[in-house]
Amino acid sequence: MDMQRITSYLAPRRIDEALQAMAEGDATLFCGGTDLAPQTESGVRRYGATLLNVRRIEGLGGIDTDGGEIRIGATTSVGEIRRNAALGRIAPVLVEAAEHFASEQIRNAASVGGNLCNASPAGDMIPPLLVLGASVELACWRDGAAQTRRVPLESFFVGPGKTVKRPEELLTAVVFERPAADFRARFRKSGPRPALEISNVSMALGARLADDRLADVRVAMGSVAPTPLRARHVEAAIEGKPLHASTVAAAVAASAHDARPIDDVRASAWYRGHLVRVFVEEVLHDLRRD
Ligand SMILES: Cc1cc2nc3c(=O)[nH]c(=O)nc-3n(C[C@H](O)[C@H](O)[C@H](O)COP(=O)(O)OP(=O)(O)OC[C@H]3O[C@@H](n4cnc5c(N)ncnc54)[C@H](O)[C@@H]3O)c2cc1C
Repeated sequence: MDMQRITSYLAPRRIDEALQAMAEGDATLFCGGTDLAPQTESGVRRYGATLLNVRRIEGLGGIDTDGGEIRIGATTSVGEIRRNAALGRIAPVLVEAAEHFASEQIRNAASVGGNLCNASPAGDMIPPLLVLGASVELACWRDGAAQTRRVPLESFFVGPGKTVKRPEELLTAVVFERPAADFRARFRKSGPRPALEISNVSMALGARLADDRLADVRVAMGSVAPTPLRARHVEAAIEGKPLHASTVAAAVAASAHDARPIDDVRASAWYRGHLVRVFVEEVLHDLRRD
């Protein structure tokens, strides 16, 4: 069995220890293991010699909503996001996505860092974080010290399961500016089963709404391309426009230029395109009612 390749198991409390183990190479890192375990079981991935559990690293968990920048530590579980009352006020779109995520058991194991690093086009935390204009913090061990860099989430994903993160880098946090008081956003997700479902289309849309006009519009879609993406055509079609029926129609028409869905075992390309149009229309109608 593949697990026999593992010669050491580490569960450090200090980040430096984890970064040093990663710098040495051939470490397989995990937090909740809810993606890693099925992938190694099915043979899609192999374990390295060191199995590195990051969940107990101090300073890597928790949600800080006190300042102008909101910070969610990488090991924070989707369940913690769902239950966080301050986030529910500041960025309810993130809590909405957490509510539609798997089941209670999976939510309590699944980490936000794992969701981002797994880089599935269907990762549910991704569209809301894109709409919030989030960046990720990456750390690695270089020249005898921890080094960090920030990458906008928008440029983090490069293909299914692929990101710009280097193998020796640890994702430490996801950060975003506190949204303006008049910022409104919604999340939608569809799958054929009512629970425990991987999205066959997901979408988040956010905008400031002042004097009935949409400003700072951000739209993100999942499962309609090899990576989650910003829907630039929809954004351009509605930026600065009044929230009228003609604007909704323009947004729905523009969505066809952003979504490049494929047929696969979970849904047809036609059905995915249809869902995108429906979600854009629904969310804009919801914002109108707010
Ligand atoms: C039954 C079931 C239902 C699911 N439902 C959903 C769903 O509704 N929506 C959804 O989006 N996903 C779903 N998933 C997928 C999965 O639960 C999520 O992607 C989860 O957020 C992964 O987090 P994790 O901590 O378990 O990741 P892990 O499996 O521990 O890690 C995933 C990957 O990320 C890497 N990684 C983890 N943390 C870090 C870090 N801090 N820095 C660098 N690399 C890191 C690991 O090396 C690994 O490659 C489901 C999975 C299962 C088994």
